[in-house]
Amino acid sequence: MEETTSEVVEEYLLEIYILNQAGEKVKANKLAAALNSKPSTVFATLQRMKRDDLVKINRSKEITLTTKGSGLADNIAYRHNLAEYFLCNSLKIPWSEVHMHAHKLEHAMTPLVVEKLAEFLGQPQFCPHGTPMPGQSLPDNTLTLDHATVDTYVEIVMISEDLEDSLEIMQILQEKLIMPGYKHLVANISTALQSISLKQNNMETVLPMHVAKKIYAINVEEIT
Ligand SMILES: [Zn+2]
Ligand SMILES: [Zn+2]
Repeated sequence: MEETTSEVVEEYLLEIYILNQAGEKVKANKLAAALNSKPSTVFATLQRMKRDDLVKINRSKEITLTTKGSGLADNIAYRHNLAEYFLCNSLKIPWSEVHMHAHKLEHAMTPLVVEKLAEFLGQPQFCPHGTPMPGQSLPDNTLTLDHATVDTYVEIVMISEDLEDSLEIMQILQEKLIMPGYKHLVANISTALQSISLKQNNMETVLPMHVAKKIYAINVEEIT
């Protein structure tokens, strides 16, 4: 019989995958916060996932995906990104909101639907927030905005998947055009305030560093 993964386990796999990709160490309490669940529930689910060879938990209680787990997570991430692309580009749901809807849709897509949807959408290479689809990658010279230099121009290439969980931040980013493809001047960096300010035309946006380090960009010559 073919093994199927429950929706809950898929959520866990995707969340661990996202946190790992953001370079964060994943522990049960962080996962509980990210998934809005009780630590006891998370603990029980993790034990089952460990038994099913989906996750490894080391002595410092850090959780990583096994080869089997990361294969499944890749597939869920692909469904998630494809669903976002569809919602944003075909259904015209706001860029800032598609992530939460995609979280629901991603579990309901059979392999045939995934294949046909990718075909229908013209095999998109990135999600609307710039996350590369499998086989794609960000440009080599990509940097996170906390490493930007004052008086240079940057073009946004990706908003990290874990920022997408905050609708409020996403709405600000959309309003201020801090979205893939848009260019900004790095107007100021304040070590004292731990912030960076971006300028485009007459619009200036101050971002705290903890947000800036989750936004990826490349340096460009100027704003054209
Ligand atoms: Zn997303
Ligand atoms: Zn996305």
